[in-house]
Amino acid sequence: MSEAPATVAPDPALFDKVVNLCKRRGFVFPSAEIYGGFRSTYDYGPVGVLLLRNVKDAWWRSMVQLRHDVVGLDAAILSPPAIWEASGHLKNFTDPLVDCRVCRERFRLDHLDDAEVCPNCKSEHSFTEARQFNLMFRTYAGPVEGAGAEVYLRPETAQGMFVNFRNVLETSRRRPPFGIAQVGKSFRNEITTGNFVFRTREFEQMEMEFFVPPVESAKWYEYWCAERLSWYVDHGIPADELRLRAHDEDELSHYSSATSDVEYLFPWGWDELEGIANRGDFDLTQHANHSGEKLDYFDQATGERYVPHVVEPAAGATRTAMAFLLAAYDEEEVAREGQGKGEVRTVLRLHPRIAPYKVAVLPLSKKPELQAPALEVLGLLQPHFMCDYDETQAIGRRYRRQDELGTPFCVTVDFDTLDDGAVTVRDRDSMAQDRVPIEDLVEHLRPRLGL
Ligand code: ATP
Repeated sequence: MSEAPATVAPDPALFDKVVNLCKRRGFVFPSAEIYGGFRSTYDYGPVGVLLLRNVKDAWWRSMVQLRHDVVGLDAAILSPPAIWEASGHLKNFTDPLVDCRVCRERFRLDHLDDAEVCPNCKSEHSFTEARQFNLMFRTYAGPVEGAGAEVYLRPETAQGMFVNFRNVLETSRRRPPFGIAQVGKSFRNEITTGNFVFRTREFEQMEMEFFVPPVESAKWYEYWCAERLSWYVDHGIPADELRLRAHDEDELSHYSSATSDVEYLFPWGWDELEGIANRGDFDLTQHANHSGEKLDYFDQATGERYVPHVVEPAAGATRTAMAFLLAAYDEEEVAREGQGKGEVRTVLRLHPRIAPYKVAVLPLSKKPELQAPALEVLGLLQPHFMCDYDETQAIGRRYRRQDELGTPFCVTVDFDTLDDGAVTVRDRDSMAQDRVPIEDLVEHLRPRLGL
């Protein structure tokens, strides 16, 4: 288990800078803003939707595409009470809720720094007794309200994998050890939301249930802990801003023999990005008992029948997107062109796979003689890479805008292009500029983007 060196400290100022950039550049908008906003709910704008999609695609690529032992699933969000009865969520998916008798604010007891002092109005001993509050959103299917029509919005994607275990086993020609992966929305009626998209009531998860022979579960748990930690490093989060924290005995769910969180050093301190749990045979056994279906595996080679154990890496897509933004944010002093004076440039040093746009095509001026070839270059690149196109404002300001979007390369079409058929390729991180023939452009960019 890794511990971060003591030299790394959280940076509280970073939070406001990134939230501000997200609004200014079209990553994330407060939801229903024209109606005064809808508390703790967010919409992903033109670049945010690309970033979030890239996070999910990068996860899917390493968890499904590059493996032979994991298949995908997209299960329904609306689900009958029977699933949540069996999983234990109806009874146990609760957080302790306390009210401040003075200011009437509500808090999650286990998130309070001091259980005796209200963080809102600072009153002491003003809390009510804790009540267990179930986090699942309940609604009704069809025109009749009432117990028979009750449905739940899933609070996690995982149950979709358990209830489809037999379907997937029979159709996918897989045998343990194998996994089922899913990316999608989950809903939790969180008592306290906050820290931007870190904790919201509607969010996206990336979860995988890995079904293994019981004797192999400890080995696979270690494997997935290591694998998942390196995924974040491979996608650009500095290793010293990440750690794996094993849960103490008293933090473990009753069915889990081991759980570790991948934690990131958020501006407010270490906090969870993902949980990796060794869940034993709890889930399949519960669903087998409640449904009456057999959810086990018969190994023809050994003649053994067993209920597979499950190792689950469960990550948050929206939370991870936020961590990538925080880790990528950088400010550096650079010389202003032609003046030699210092200017601070803000740059998102996002991994190219995560960056919303891979390339921006920028004609040096809006003149029609440059616009036409610039649009041609855009058309050449678009089938290969997600591109932006921008022809307004001075070129320096357009470079700064792309820096703030994290675009790895800008391609500038200038008057020389008309004669030499070449363009200027500017690197986001070094700001170095190369002259590249248009016909070589795709092959020049592809290896540099590592795609
Ligand atoms: P917490 O203890 O913070 O409430 P959890 O341990 O219950 O979270 P899990 O059930 O393990 O979370 O969910 C897996 C992942 O889903 C989390 O690591 C997190 O990245 C993400 N996630 C969970 N709840 C939320 C939320 N309300 N908003 C955004 N992401 C969330």
